[in-house]
Amino acid sequence: MRVPMIAGNWKMNTTVSEAVGLVSEMRPELDAIDNVDKVICPPFISLAAVRELIKGSSIKLGAQNIYFEDKGAYTGEISPLMLADLCEFVIIGHSERRQYFNESGEIINRKVQAALRVGLKPILCIGERLEENEAGRTEEVVTEQLRSSLANIDYLTDLVIAYEPVWAIGTGKAATGKQANETIGFIRQIISEKYGKRIAQDLRILYGGSVTADNAAEFISQPEIDGALVGGASLNANEFLSIIRQTAEIKRRLSV
Ligand code: PEP
Repeated sequence: MRVPMIAGNWKMNTTVSEAVGLVSEMRPELDAIDNVDKVICPPFISLAAVRELIKGSSIKLGAQNIYFEDKGAYTGEISPLMLADLCEFVIIGHSERRQYFNESGEIINRKVQAALRVGLKPILCIGERLEENEAGRTEEVVTEQLRSSLANIDYLTDLVIAYEPVWAIGTGKAATGKQANETIGFIRQIISEKYGKRIAQDLRILYGGSVTADNAAEFISQPEIDGALVGGASLNANEFLSIIRQTAEIKRRLSV
């Protein structure tokens, strides 16, 4: 059984005190929900404070990016070793990093390798752009992204994949549950061909792109979708808690 996961990507939002306020507001209720991995990914500067706040709870912490060298003259970067001390997960290959910071498949692959090397669990984001979707190239694009991001990686136990169609991120225009389920099923098939059926069956694959409390159930109730990577809605305590509660309830129902 794959444990469902809901991860909140706060992106470049919240000061340290706002982050502390938001986590303090959610902590008791978040902690009480079992059967779902609940992951919060605040900005780097808030990781240490949030880590203190969630100590002793079932809430998990993730970063939003990583550099691939452990130390050195890379002004402004955050290394795998620094993060390994602070959190369990790290988002890698988000489409905003591919688009605004020119992250290539090769760079993303180096980041995934660097994270795994220090025991961090990557949440690897893949997904097609609007024009690729409209040209019917979704499967080709995700196949290539998987090939480049996972080159020379033979250990997927700690990896989570987030399928995030770029046209659905931050636009309010989510995919349908059926579309997302089909593409995630396809991604699982590609993983199965490369790594074997067992690894593919155990791998968690999330959907991301304009997930809200109103549409979460449509995605979560799909058999291939193991949870969601949530951007905007994760900044609202009630929305985020509702998405997680619905996930716990739906997946519990589906498992009996
Ligand atoms: C994201 O940041 O990964 C994301 C899916 O954002 P949003 O939910 O706002 O579309």
